[in-house]
Parts: sequence; C-alpha cells; structure tokens
Amino acid sequence: MRKKIVAGNWKMNLEYAEGIALFSEIVNMVKDEKKGDQLAIVCAPYIHLNSLAQLGGTTVAIGAQNCHQKESGAYTGEISAKMIKSVGCEYVIIGHSERRQYFAESDELLAEKTIIALQNGLTPLFCIGETLDERNNGSYFDVLKGQLEKGVFGLTAGDFSKIVIAYEPVWAIGTGLTATSEQAQEVHAFIRNEIATKYDLEVAEATTILYGGSCNPKNAAELFAQKDIDGGLIGGASLKSRDFVDIVKTFNS
Ligand code: PEP
Repeated sequence: MRKKIVAGNWKMNLEYAEGIALFSEIVNMVKDEKKGDQLAIVCAPYIHLNSLAQLGGTTVAIGAQNCHQKESGAYTGEISAKMIKSVGCEYVIIGHSERRQYFAESDELLAEKTIIALQNGLTPLFCIGETLDERNNGSYFDVLKGQLEKGVFGLTAGDFSKIVIAYEPVWAIGTGLTATSEQAQEVHAFIRNEIATKYDLEVAEATTILYGGSCNPKNAAELFAQKDIDGGLIGGASLKSRDFVDIVKTFNS
C-alpha cells in the first residue's frame, strides 16, 4: 500500500503568531478527519518549525521547504538538514519550481540536497515539473525524465524507496490553472513507468507520487481518484485551515 499524503507548502507566508494560530486550527480539525494510513504534512518557513513540530504531535507531520546541500560550515544564512531534523521535522521539499527558477537550483545541486536530507533522516518531497512552453511544445516527458535522471535516479533503490515525488506543472502553480485529472494521471503513470524502468516494478508501485498545482477542495477528489495520484502538494489552499483540511478529508470520501 502506498502512503497517501496531503502536504501543505506555506511558502514565505505567515508571521510567527499567525503560523501557530493556523497550525493549531489545522491540528484540531485534522484529528477527526484523518484515516489511519494517510498522512498530513505542513511544510513551513524555518522560524515556525520547532514550535509546529511540538504542536503537531502524531497528527500532522512537519517539513521544511529547503535545506542546504552541505552538512555544516561557513555558509552564512543557510540551514542544514541536520538542523532541520534536530527540531523534530521529518520532511523537506527539494526542487520546488520556485527554488529552481528564482534561486537557480540545478538538477545536480538538487541531487546533493536529496542525499544530505536522506543522510540526516529527512524524507525529501522531490518536485519535478514542466513549464508552459515545454508542455505546449511537447517536450514535457523529456524534461521530466531529465529531472528524474539527474535529480534522483543516482540514488540506490533503497534510498529511492525513502523519497516522495511531487509532480508540479509550473504553469499550474499559483495560477488557478489546474492540470486536468487526465493530464495529471498521464504524467503520473509516465513517472511510475520511468521508476520501474530505472529500478523495478516493486519500487515503482511503492512510490508515493503527489500532484501539485492549484489543487483545492473542489478539484482534489477527482485528481486523487486517479490510479497513480497518491495525494497532493498544496500551496495557496494550505493557508486556509478549512480548505486544507477539506483536501485532507478527500481521502475519506
Ligand atoms: C506549490 O507551490 O507547491 C503549489 C502547488 O502551489 P499552489 O497550490 O498555490 O498552486
């Protein structure tokens, strides 16, 4: 059975007190909604992580949105995977398209970040996705394959089995344009097939693959009903407790 996950990505939003307030609401609401085999995660800015990890308990897991690729050292302003782990986080988003785009994070750098996260006991939520141009010119399967090959296919099967993949078409992030369930399923099936070719069918079948891109309480059910979609990475809608918890609830209906 693959793990079913709904993960929120708060991005660079919420002051400290606002984050605590939103997260407390989410924990209280999720308590009554979550099924045993499904997982709710909130990926918050660094300043929130310590407090949220204590508040979340076993109900909502916590993730960071990035980590540095080195273990420690003279990298002023950076945060290491070990530091993230030390405050009780279990997850870290790696390769979000905003990091690729605005911080020029390359596939090679993301491969290093994935390894250091795994070495420190964090589960990477590794994001891949094509731009609108790449979708329109039909190169998106090649783009996604390249991101997988350079970013995570260097991992051993054992390490690969510990990561989660998130398919996030760049054109759907924060735009209100969601991939149709057919478009998303087509890509998720492609990703699973690539994993089977690289590793084997067993690894591919066990990999959780999330969809991200303007997912909301209205479209989540249809997306999550697709055979190869195992949940979502949620941006905007994760900043509203009711919307986020309604998306989590989708697995119960
Ligand atoms: C995201 O940033 O990971 C995301 C999916 O954002 P949104 O849901 O706002 O499109």
